Amino acid sequence: MSGRFLIAVLLSVFAVAANAQRARDLGIPFEGTPGPLNAITDVAGVTVGHTTLISDTADGHAIRTGVTAILPRGRDSLMEPVMAATFALNGNGEMTGSAWVEESGLLEGPVMLTNTHSVGVVRDATIAWRVRAAGPDASGYTWSLPLVAETWDGHLNDINGFHVQARDAEAALENASGGAVAEGNVGGGTGMVCHEYKCGIGTASRVVSVLDKPYTVGVLVQANYGLRDSLRIAGAPVGLHMRDDRVYSEDDAQADETGSIIIVVATDAPLLPHQLKRLAKRAALGLARMGSIAGNGSGDIFVAFGTGNAAGQAGLQKVQMLGNEHMDPLFAGVVEATEEAIVNAMIAARDMTGEEGRYAKAIDHEQLQHWLSYYKRLAPQLDLPASVETYPDGRKPVGELYRAYTSLLEKGWQMDIVTRSQPPGREYALPIIALRTPGAGQACWIFSGIHGEEPAGPNAIAESIDAIAELGAHQPVVLLPLNNPQGYVNNWRYLNMQKYSETVAGQSVGDSEHLLTDPDNPEQARQENASSPEADAITEYVLAMSELYPPAASIDLHEDNLISEGYVYSQGKLGAADPLALAAVKTLRANGIAIRMSGETRFGEVIDGGIIGPVIDGSIDELMSAASIIVDGQVQAGPEAHTVLVFETPADQVSLRQRIAAQSALLRSITSCSD
Ligand SMILES: [Zn+2]
Repeated sequence: MSGRFLIAVLLSVFAVAANAQRARDLGIPFEGTPGPLNAITDVAGVTVGHTTLISDTADGHAIRTGVTAILPRGRDSLMEPVMAATFALNGNGEMTGSAWVEESGLLEGPVMLTNTHSVGVVRDATIAWRVRAAGPDASGYTWSLPLVAETWDGHLNDINGFHVQARDAEAALENASGGAVAEGNVGGGTGMVCHEYKCGIGTASRVVSVLDKPYTVGVLVQANYGLRDSLRIAGAPVGLHMRDDRVYSEDDAQADETGSIIIVVATDAPLLPHQLKRLAKRAALGLARMGSIAGNGSGDIFVAFGTGNAAGQAGLQKVQMLGNEHMDPLFAGVVEATEEAIVNAMIAARDMTGEEGRYAKAIDHEQLQHWLSYYKRLAPQLDLPASVETYPDGRKPVGELYRAYTSLLEKGWQMDIVTRSQPPGREYALPIIALRTPGAGQACWIFSGIHGEEPAGPNAIAESIDAIAELGAHQPVVLLPLNNPQGYVNNWRYLNMQKYSETVAGQSVGDSEHLLTDPDNPEQARQENASSPEADAITEYVLAMSELYPPAASIDLHEDNLISEGYVYSQGKLGAADPLALAAVKTLRANGIAIRMSGETRFGEVIDGGIIGPVIDGSIDELMSAASIIVDGQVQAGPEAHTVLVFETPADQVSLRQRIAAQSALLRSITSCSD
């Protein structure tokens, strides 16, 4: 198990390095959950091929152009149409074959992208390829009306040299494959410019849930539109600040928006052509997020196709369609994926010099990060120290833990840096992070690592991150997986000391007494101040976030090396009778953890059936269950979670591996936190 996990970690590191030039890798935030490739090829069957032409002719012309082919059903696209629809937001451009798509509701064959003056040759070549590669269709004729769309690359490319040849279109078709899609200066996007930066091909995808089934929406753009002024990324008006190297408006303040964008939307959802038309229209909203006004000179033409239905041409056809009331998640997916695909095109593009020495600079990544950060629109950076510790007990180094936790970002989760913990005497700060699902609402809260010498919980979360992602796909989750990273690194229980002591108070990062009411005086907090900056930051975060994510249930993974049998605290409203506490006791026992079924804890609390009812201990768990709390001297409503479970499992007689396995089983047993 640990071997497999290590391989998975290495692969993910490698994958990040290989894709280093995508928008997400810079920390640009996007909404929604992308598919595994975050590309149009996440829609099963879709293949993409590029032919990229970059060379200089003997007589000094610059060839900077190419062809991109998108095959809705891969090779089967030759004979099997898909349902489809087109939409022209502004029709100053060309998409051949669109009249028949509109008429029939079917797209027969590929979608081809190239430069404005090469539409003809690409169209002819695509027909020839179709004729050679497949026989007559169901009508008995060997024919084709291919969809070929264009944008103008004449700024960088010698467009009137007509350098795209039939063989280039064929090569794009023949090379089309699934898997990761090259972006930026490739294929039809080779010479394209958007918002006056070098641009080109970009892609992205979203997985959405409709009627409890996952569907994928994929988008591919050939982006060549827009002035700098209007550029917005992640909602921030960065174009107003990033003024260098404007291709058109630098020397001409009156420059009009010219250029165009072609957007291809794919989905595996079972939709009919009129519904696909609605998806095609939504691509305009993704474009709008970038700041486009679809200017008079712009050819903004979109096509959406669906692979979720067969689209036979004759006989009685049985089709499926989602009811219109279920379209919204797909609409959101199109808008989000279109926005991200355009940003991906800009981020992947590289500086290019072209015809007559004209050039287009790629967007400066660091400058972009600077301005996104200025507008608080850059995902937090972890800034981990480079040191890699190893531990005799086999716990993962913190770097590996953070890497496992942040894999949730690939599922669309959000990360917050609660605070950076650097207690006196430590060389470096370590972030205390929280991860939460993109959707808010009644949530599962998961805490771990409050005590630094209890490594099972933080490791179990890292190993169960797939199960937590799955839980988060069905309901809101807030995860605080490693609340005391400094303690974890040093194997210290508290911020200020290694072990529990009768005489000195240990500063626990979970201390909440500055917010909890004094049992003797419910108008007053038990302590005036938080016991540490970390406890202050964590409790503040918990209170703020529990407004957005009211805790239905909260669990907290602990260990205790002074006990030989574990038990479960049930701090919520239902107390010791909480059925989830009873279920947890069963899960722990089934996973080889001895449970003390009766008697007392080492603090003298009564155990009944392995469970202890609500206790007053000043912990974050008491805070999660509190009906009222004191904030700045005022009584206010507390988070009041129904279920609050704290697991204390024995640490000393059981190997860490076994403890991690038991706590992982516990995490994997959570399928719902709803009341
Ligand atoms: Zn503990």
